[in-house]
Amino acid sequence: MRTVYLNGDYLPEEEAKVSVFDRGFLMADAVYEVVSVLGGKLIDFDAHVARLQRSLAALDMRAPDAMGDLLAIHRELVARNDLIDGLIYLQVTRGNPGDRDFHYPAPDTAPTLVLFTQSKPGMAASPLARRGARVIAVPDLRWGLRDIKTVQLLYPSMAKMMAEAAGVDDAWMVQDGHITEGTSNNAYIVRDGCIITRALSHDILHGITRAAVLRFAAEARMQVDQRSFTLEEALQADEAFLTSASAFVTPVIEIDGAPVGTGRPGPVVLRLREVYLEESLKRAI
Ligand code: PMP
Repeated sequence: MRTVYLNGDYLPEEEAKVSVFDRGFLMADAVYEVVSVLGGKLIDFDAHVARLQRSLAALDMRAPDAMGDLLAIHRELVARNDLIDGLIYLQVTRGNPGDRDFHYPAPDTAPTLVLFTQSKPGMAASPLARRGARVIAVPDLRWGLRDIKTVQLLYPSMAKMMAEAAGVDDAWMVQDGHITEGTSNNAYIVRDGCIITRALSHDILHGITRAAVLRFAAEARMQVDQRSFTLEEALQADEAFLTSASAFVTPVIEIDGAPVGTGRPGPVVLRLREVYLEESLKRAI
């Protein structure tokens, strides 16, 4: 049984309860982060906290009083749950105003802060990373402010189910003919050695793994072009891949039933995965 964190307390998971009036439950008025843990250490922790702060500010949401203690809380959860490899999920909601109301609650309403662990032994050696992911393209029907990491995950969840029904691993979302991103990852193609990925805007989540991978790619003098690409371009690409805190760098070998490049993980994505894991582990805290 897990020990989870709720508003200052470490509790057995079945004792951690949130009100039915919580804004996270009634309005999806909540933001989240997912930090990966490898060998008991946190990957890219500071960048995740910085993005949490941006998400809170973008929604005028009060930060939890424990904001300064997040590193200690993450470490305590790793220790109490004997977590070696896996994830720490963190969510902040606008709290419980005691009733349902569209109006934001009074500023003295305390935010709700929840964290819990998810154990994934051997996460860095996932079979999907070796085989490569198959994806389908689906229309991007999400709201417009995707750079705020809110818990409005119903459409991404629907898209994952569409992928499952199609017998593949994930879905890439398309807006005006261009790929935005995956259901829970950023999307990339490689053409003539150049890594192409959509530029940052409200259209996509500003992935922490994306930032790290592009930094390592630049340091390795690989060519990077931050621009939108079409579904047709992706189908013609030499390689494709996705990134996220939990999937790291994962090859995409098939889109809508058609192979990308050779239909096998290519040299650029394999190198990036290796560099990403090596550099991130070096910097893990
Ligand atoms: N895009 C979306 C829509 C996501 O949900 C995620 C995962 N949180 C990402 C991209 C990847 O972001 P990160 O690298 O910070 O996990």
